[in-house]
Amino acid sequence: MYITPTGKKLITVIPGDGIGPEVVRSAQRIIEAVGVPIEWEERHAGESVFKQGIPSGVLPETIESIRKTRVVLKGPLGTPVGYGEKSANVTLRKLFETYGNIRPVRELPGIKTPFSGRGIDLVVIRENVEDLYAGIEHMQTPGVAQCLKLISRKGCEKIVRLAFEFARSEGRKQVHCATKSNIMKLTEGMLKRTFEEVAKEYPDIQSQHIIIDNCAHQLVKKPEQFDVIVTTNMNGDIISDLTSGLIGGLGFAPSSNIGNDVAIFEAVHGSAPKYAGRNVINPTALILSAVMMLRHIEEFEAADLIENAVLVTLEAGTLTRDVVGDEGAASTSAYTDAIIANLGKKPQQWTVRERKPLVLPEVSPRLDTVIPNTRSVAGVDVFVESALLPEEIGPSLVKIATETQFKLKMISNRGTKVYTPTGAMTDNIDHYRCRFILKDEAQSLSEVEVDQAILHLVQQIAARHRWMHLEKLPVFDGAAGYTKAQGED
Ligand code: NAP
Repeated sequence: MYITPTGKKLITVIPGDGIGPEVVRSAQRIIEAVGVPIEWEERHAGESVFKQGIPSGVLPETIESIRKTRVVLKGPLGTPVGYGEKSANVTLRKLFETYGNIRPVRELPGIKTPFSGRGIDLVVIRENVEDLYAGIEHMQTPGVAQCLKLISRKGCEKIVRLAFEFARSEGRKQVHCATKSNIMKLTEGMLKRTFEEVAKEYPDIQSQHIIIDNCAHQLVKKPEQFDVIVTTNMNGDIISDLTSGLIGGLGFAPSSNIGNDVAIFEAVHGSAPKYAGRNVINPTALILSAVMMLRHIEEFEAADLIENAVLVTLEAGTLTRDVVGDEGAASTSAYTDAIIANLGKKPQQWTVRERKPLVLPEVSPRLDTVIPNTRSVAGVDVFVESALLPEEIGPSLVKIATETQFKLKMISNRGTKVYTPTGAMTDNIDHYRCRFILKDEAQSLSEVEVDQAILHLVQQIAARHRWMHLEKLPVFDGAAGYTKAQGED
């Protein structure tokens, strides 16, 4: 935390795009009315920066400011859809390794939903930098695209520990881990396995795994059963919008992006461009994000004061257009004025949860390596683009392999074994995964010799077929580091 010469806490503020400047200004006005010793350093990112021709959407002076202040209050940034640039939001999260996205939702007074009265009060903790959002995509053939889902042991451990520590800091009793490990046993399964190991260190908190699709179902059926849900990036992106919907919509859903160095506080919603500059949108999500920021910088009293004022304002029936429609709605600025006027008041029926400072999991500055006791390579998957049918390419590859250290184990098409035939009725495309395993007599080859054998195999294949991707089949501590195709023995 950077303290200015006048003793104030310096915060980088990014007004953002669309409705961003209005919601950010609303939160700033409330914080200023409380008199929190904060100085803002305004910097820019998003559409205006893309328009300056900067492909990341983030200005160098914005990065410099965040490096200094370590704390950001940020409005939503518009993301160009369908052409070159990456999302400036994702860039900011990744640049500063804000690995934990914390998205709390709770039932709010006066906000009528089909779930009113159930006492929803839950937090989704979403891994924020890995998974499909690493954005590593390739066109493998003119007709087949690939996105790599990268999940690391270190990334899982950090997010799981953050979830348990967050539960402790808020006095919460239960953490669910939501994954699709039944299908993606290695990637999603890594989060599940890490969760089950780390949970043993938190005996004071109940831990339970749930399959993500059932989690979505349960969230709609009985949301009050959840307290904290930790999950992978894409799962968390989707279910946290769902949980926002449970309590009245995106206008009420705050979030923080937490890392060991930097924390970025922002609403879950986007820039809603159609409402920009109209003074009609709901600033609560950004105000509650600012409340999370105040707790992060240990301004607990100010945070409680503002959260209470928001609850009092809602209890009094001062509501924005997204809740009550055009008739009788408070404008963004009138709603902000009402919150300022309610500072110091306590809600009648609603309480603010007691919180302790969040203890962030320690992160080693060293590069993370996982060293197995034994490792070997069982073979290689060679991905081939071919217009041949399985019964044509199969015998061709069997023949090619006879001149190599490998034998063809099987060929799959979009994950289902098609050679040798299994009777599966697949709608094949020109993209084959061809699995070669070392012949018995080649089992004793060293790792370097296996590499040479793979290169020789690929050369032989390349003479007759178009290959585009290789994946070694590793074995770590005796366990296969790859999954089988559907229908593979
Ligand atoms: P959006 O901006 O969140 O808006 C979707 C809808 O949600 C709005 O049309 C409006 O619903 C409602 N809404 C959102 N915020 C509201 C608020 N504060 N008060 C009242 N209603 C609110 O989502 P989008 O239209 O998909 O995305 C627009 C742009 O924002 C895109 O460029 C997207 O990439 C970007 N985005 C940025 C972030 C971020 O910066 N973190 C996050 C998400 C999206 P009604 O139409 O029903 O009134």
